[in-house]
Amino acid sequence: MDKIILTGDRPTGRLHVGHYVGSLRRRVELQNSGEYKKIFIMIADAQALTDNFDNPEKVRENIIEVALDYMSCGLDPAKSNLFIQSQIPELCEMTTYYMNLVTVSRLQRNPTVKNEIQLRNFETSIPVGFFSYPISQASDITAFKATTVPVGDDQLPMIEQTREIVHKFNSIYAPVLVEPEALLPETEACRRLPGTDGQAKMSKSLNNCIYLADDADDVRKKIMSMYTDPLHLLVSDPGHLEGNTVFTYLDAFCRDEHFQRYLPDYANLDELKAHYQRGGLGDVKVKKFLNNVVQETLEPIRQRRKELEKDIPAVYEVLKKGCEVARQEAAQTLSEMKRAMRINYFEDAELIQAQAAKYSGQAAK
Ligand code: ATP
Ligand code: MG
Repeated sequence: MDKIILTGDRPTGRLHVGHYVGSLRRRVELQNSGEYKKIFIMIADAQALTDNFDNPEKVRENIIEVALDYMSCGLDPAKSNLFIQSQIPELCEMTTYYMNLVTVSRLQRNPTVKNEIQLRNFETSIPVGFFSYPISQASDITAFKATTVPVGDDQLPMIEQTREIVHKFNSIYAPVLVEPEALLPETEACRRLPGTDGQAKMSKSLNNCIYLADDADDVRKKIMSMYTDPLHLLVSDPGHLEGNTVFTYLDAFCRDEHFQRYLPDYANLDELKAHYQRGGLGDVKVKKFLNNVVQETLEPIRQRRKELEKDIPAVYEVLKKGCEVARQEAAQTLSEMKRAMRINYFEDAELIQAQAAKYSGQAAK
């Protein structure tokens, strides 16, 4: 079977380094590996509207931000199809049919949705669109017959939900849809990068992000004021790694060669961690090192962004072309689905003939 990727992000803000280590970096590697027949990268504006319906301007403005972030990280429109969710109406049609295959109690059990409902203080006024966004996400994935979905670990319940829908659709109607696999980053730190405040997840909605487009000075300030180990008061105190955001970021970003360049007293991260745990290593030194590593990663991305910002209409043109390609693919899948569901009345000559025969038989009686 051809390998196909679908993945995306909500245009609720600029992309941050959590997106980078959780998904973007991997996408670019996969794109350049040549192993994938088709790659679809979606800006999920319709999904963003489920909890930002009263702020459409925010969603509208962030389309270009996300597109710029994508391309500055190395997503190449010649190899990856970049498109906007709302421009593909076939996705909504699919969602309508998938809704029949999912129960309300199944949606209520989704741990990511539960958590997000709490974060957004929806309490009892949960918009139906938000509650059911895992179903719409199943449409996004299946419309392109994606085999592979590179994501952070908060998305695992969505992929599971999609697999269930695919299974049910294929067994009730006909084997039209493809069951996708999630592709998680290898390391724990990258699966769910914490916020700079030490909260469990860096997230646009929590205001605890280092953005890919932040300038060098902002990045340095955010890193220098990052959450570490509250028990590590004196340099001589033994430090703890558990829940220590600075070390989690080092897990996500640093490689041995960074030590040669910026901290040659240590061969690798294990040595640095051991020293920290023994005591005698101050947070400031570790943060300065982290700053060097992160700046080295972000600098080429910032430079490419500056270039891309010079021709914004060209970026919209990329998205427009991407939407055209995506729409054709989704329409093809939808047509196969409708045939399987027996709702393709006008392309079914046999149906019309059979009904005609039935009635002409009756007329002859
Ligand atoms: P929002 O707060 O609007 O939901 P977000 O920051 O959670 O925004 P999304 O657009 O929902 O970002 O997520 C896009 C992709 O990035 C998903 O694959 C998600 O798993 C991944 N991702 C988001 N935040 C992180 C993170 N902190 N660590 C690892 N991956 C992440
Ligand atoms: Mg999210």
